[in-house]
Amino acid sequence: MPENWPPPFQVRLSQRAKRILVSIHPKRGLEIVTPKRISTQQALNIVHQHRAWIEKKLQAQRHPATHTDPAWPTHQPPLHIHLPALNEHWQLLHRPTTTARAQLHIDSAQHQLTFSGEGEQVWSLLQRWFIAHTKLQILPMLHQLARAHGDPLQGSGARWNHTRWGSCSRAGRINLSARLLWLEPAEVNYVLHHELNHLHHFDHSPVFWQSLEARLPGALSLDRGIRHAHKRASFPAWLKLV
Ligand SMILES: [Zn+2]
Repeated sequence: MPENWPPPFQVRLSQRAKRILVSIHPKRGLEIVTPKRISTQQALNIVHQHRAWIEKKLQAQRHPATHTDPAWPTHQPPLHIHLPALNEHWQLLHRPTTTARAQLHIDSAQHQLTFSGEGEQVWSLLQRWFIAHTKLQILPMLHQLARAHGDPLQGSGARWNHTRWGSCSRAGRINLSARLLWLEPAEVNYVLHHELNHLHHFDHSPVFWQSLEARLPGALSLDRGIRHAHKRASFPAWLKLV
């Protein structure tokens, strides 16, 4: 960036300005706002005086803070997705098309996801697929366990939840995070038991944990294990971005 110094700028006369100001406008770019006319050389001197500040601001404008990963959102999806929960390996194929709209074609028999389009659009399609896949593959396990244990499950769903693996409402509805797809099968089983146990104990009291350990021996150690699951190598870096 320093080779682009000094950046293009304009001088804007403003009656309301009390003194000379340097500002960076989102559309107009670098501006020197001044109450009285100044020469080009004077303007250039001002730009040089504020160099550190101007460079920092221009840099921030190019990479807004919301995009902490500079590759996001223009980076492309991975070539391969492993879902430990289901021990599935999916291949991702990019098919360039002339239409601007991103598309995702799912071949469940071949475990192939073929997509067209770029960046964020593809990610939102994939995210929707992860949720649909959770509903298709993991929710039946939840209902099967509920039947086997006589749990009063009233409804279920899946979402893209960053903060919780699952949740249980007072009405008896359980929602699962599609991120469960990246846990180990035994851990998914644990989360299902944990949420189902809330249908009997709506809190995290000692009674809840005793009851959970009784229905699933080893539950407590599984609970400790998944707290930092997102730091594992099997948890792909791109997953933190979507
Ligand atoms: Zn809980």
